[in-house]
Amino acid sequence: MTIHLHDTRQGRKVPFEPLHDGKVTMYLCGPTVYNYAHIGNARPAVVFDLLARVLRRRYELTFARNFTDVDDKINAASVETGKPIDEITAQYMTAYNDDMGALGVLPPDVEPRATQHIEDMVVMIGTLIESGNAYEAEGHVLFDVTSYEDYGALSKRDLREMIAGSRVEVAPYKKSAQDFVLWKPSTPELPGWESPWGRGRPGWHIECSAMAARHLGDTIDIHAGGQDLVFPHHENELAQSRCAHGGADFARYWVHNGFLSMDHEKMSKSLGNVVLVHDLIKAIPGEVIRLALLGAHYRQPLDWSDDTIKSARRMLDRLYGAVRGIKVTDSARTAAEPPEALVAALEDDINTPKALAEFFALSKTLNKAADSDERQELAAVMYAAGDLMGLLQIDPEEWFAGDVDGELSADDIEALIEKRNAARTAKDFATADAVRDQLAAAGIKIEDGAGGTSWRRGE
Ligand code: AMP
Ligand code: ZN
Repeated sequence: MTIHLHDTRQGRKVPFEPLHDGKVTMYLCGPTVYNYAHIGNARPAVVFDLLARVLRRRYELTFARNFTDVDDKINAASVETGKPIDEITAQYMTAYNDDMGALGVLPPDVEPRATQHIEDMVVMIGTLIESGNAYEAEGHVLFDVTSYEDYGALSKRDLREMIAGSRVEVAPYKKSAQDFVLWKPSTPELPGWESPWGRGRPGWHIECSAMAARHLGDTIDIHAGGQDLVFPHHENELAQSRCAHGGADFARYWVHNGFLSMDHEKMSKSLGNVVLVHDLIKAIPGEVIRLALLGAHYRQPLDWSDDTIKSARRMLDRLYGAVRGIKVTDSARTAAEPPEALVAALEDDINTPKALAEFFALSKTLNKAADSDERQELAAVMYAAGDLMGLLQIDPEEWFAGDVDGELSADDIEALIEKRNAARTAKDFATADAVRDQLAAAGIKIEDGAGGTSWRRGE
């Protein structure tokens, strides 16, 4: 069987065939680094890390995930905090890699930073002006959407309808409302680079087009990102890349993950329901979060709640429970292959619910096996499956001892219980409830009795 992926442009699941035999290129739009990643931002990082792992079994993969380190939101964060821009971007790039690392996300092959590719962007913009696809106006350079016939093909939008429906308060220098910025002028306080159009900075879309071309070539195999990026970000990347590269296709397959919501509400700062990975991993093992993110099919919406975390923890208890006490050497682990059915599920448009079902079926077989050689063999297969999915990465004894990064220690738990009791005595019920929720999220059950508060792990 070949790998199948759902391609947004074709609107269906299709067999995957790379441009060059045996080699695959993949680009994932990475974070804009002005704050910590929330759990929704972690979804594409985890899902496409898994796809990268699956692709690497068959192909030589070059996987690029960028950092957007020049952006108006970063400039605003700098004004707000008084910190220099470089300090902000450096802090959050490190935090992003640490946080994603805690979720088992392996470093991509290339992590290009927008600020290190300004020259590539300037060259690409120059090409677009020369080819008649872009124009200069009042220090800006804009992409002329009417110059590209297929504009809207990815997001299934009709350009004429878009133009007709657009509101009037459009920047006066734009020919069409949909024209988007490739370059814009910077004031002296803002980051800026010299260019043929004056000192300025790039628009967001051109960053990805230039970085993808520099590291992966004019035509890449897979372009990935969250569903919200289809329009306008990916539509614009596609338009400008094709026009700058003489019509060559930009990405052969477009893969987009669905959105994560929180207790059925959109995760957003204004609703105050944003859960940062940085905070979550202080109380919950990264593997629990990873499994929770992989529990739903990547294209489906995923609702995040305490139950999502609890059920992921229970699943990992089952997987770790099956291999507990069985000695598997490193060489046996690397020699073993994950079950074919599990691999087939992942190769079928990253069907993680099916792959996990296969994983549990295997753990059941292992639980029933009596022969010690057979148990060892099955455990090695379990670990091979875990290595592919980024699970079962710690020693089962450590797992059950609760001695896992992010797992609350007994001392932590008792300190939290004390904090809760103190808050209750002070009638600060908001704090008391928040502490109880934190413990619940970490899988700690507490009971108030006559002799004080007792606690235990698990259900
Ligand atoms: P941003 O830093 O906002 O550009 O987002 C980084 C990545 O996270 C992009 O691929 C977004 O599509 C994705 N993303 C943002 N919010 C969510 C969410 N709630 N659920 C799933 N993916 C998201
Ligand atoms: Zn992008």
